Amino acid sequence: MNILTESPRYSCALGGALSTAKALHRVIPILHCGPGCGMMLYNGQNFIAGYSGGGYVGGATVPSTNTYERDIVFGAEKRLRQTIASTIEVMDGDLYVVLTGCTAEIIGDDVPSIVAEYADKNVPVAHASTGGFSGTNYHGYEKLWEALAQQVAVAGPREPHLVNLFGMVPAQDIYWLGNTEEIARLLGLLGLTVNTFVTQRQGIEQVKQSARAALNIVLSPWLAEGVLARYQQKFGVPSLRYPGPPIGPTATAEFLRAVAAALNLEHAVVERVIAAEDQYTYDYFDRAGMIFTGFGIQHRIAVIGDSSTVTGVLRFLVNDFSQIPAVAVITDAPPEAHRPAIIQTLTQLEYAAPPPVVFTSDQWSVAQAVKAAGATYILGSSLDKEIAQDLGVPQLSISFPVSDRLVLNRAYAGYRGSITLVEDFISPCVAAL
Ligand code: SF4
Repeated sequence: MNILTESPRYSCALGGALSTAKALHRVIPILHCGPGCGMMLYNGQNFIAGYSGGGYVGGATVPSTNTYERDIVFGAEKRLRQTIASTIEVMDGDLYVVLTGCTAEIIGDDVPSIVAEYADKNVPVAHASTGGFSGTNYHGYEKLWEALAQQVAVAGPREPHLVNLFGMVPAQDIYWLGNTEEIARLLGLLGLTVNTFVTQRQGIEQVKQSARAALNIVLSPWLAEGVLARYQQKFGVPSLRYPGPPIGPTATAEFLRAVAAALNLEHAVVERVIAAEDQYTYDYFDRAGMIFTGFGIQHRIAVIGDSSTVTGVLRFLVNDFSQIPAVAVITDAPPEAHRPAIIQTLTQLEYAAPPPVVFTSDQWSVAQAVKAAGATYILGSSLDKEIAQDLGVPQLSISFPVSDRLVLNRAYAGYRGSITLVEDFISPCVAAL
């Protein structure tokens, strides 16, 4: 049965591959698709992803074959060869990666053969099959990483303190940069070196080294299964999954202990880090306590967004900050097989009545679920402001799409991010006083 979806909160597979490729420093995406795909995707991701900007090569600078009707009829391989050659000539990069859109996949251009022509030219060119119709931008993220694991990562001796961080889709996860920085900071305190791939100008060198990591850490309840399988089969890298970036002292300590157990890290070191971070964080929570208890800030919260963000935010605000879970709305369309585990995580909270968990990407259905739950505070996207205005309740933009705030390295993850989330959560409650 066909289902109409109003204002879905994701783009196509090409979009996910594009946002991921341009997040890697000096990696140059080459789009093999129709005219308009690249610009439309960039506009969509930039203007409604907290105005995240272009990066080294992004926005209007991304090269594209811009295939027209003639190419669809006669094939566009010549056009792709020309585009790769001219891109290498005018754009200085460490890796060029061809990303195919719908038209290239439909006409069936032999992209792997064209890319293989560069194998002996000392110019690194890779490719990923990311036809927009093949899935959402989460699928595109996976396809790009599977391609990089297959074509770029280089096997070598295991590095026992090197880990790879996956699971946050650039731009789709609004707080991806700040959250990545905070998680990397905490893992660094455990003595680990982190391939984040997207911060501190990391890029192709970290992708190459990723095959030597001791552990793949994926922060999502369901994403990147194919990527993890490829690293396991090809390089023997095991993986640890945590259901989204951990937020706040309880979840973050649980996450750090899980990483420590997976890598056999010294127990005392991990507990020292947790104790120090707890102290830092609770000193700030103590200061917030005056306004929190003084004004009796307790809400029935509706949390709307991708499964990672909803899991992190809901668990923190309920388990660590005594809010009442009214409803969880999951908008990233996780595969059916993963939904029972997501429901279990979102209903095993430190509150007697579990919230209903609704899976929908349709804006009308989101509004119905929130209104039926009697929410008094909405944490969702900019789209959900209208619901908040209808209900006369506060709203905070925490998930895609976000057009009402600039997000650079703001974070909600970890210890320090949770302090920022408390600031952002409480501020609308006192703004009207
Ligand atoms: S769905 Fe296809 S045509 Fe539309 S933007 Fe994505 S790749 Fe281009």
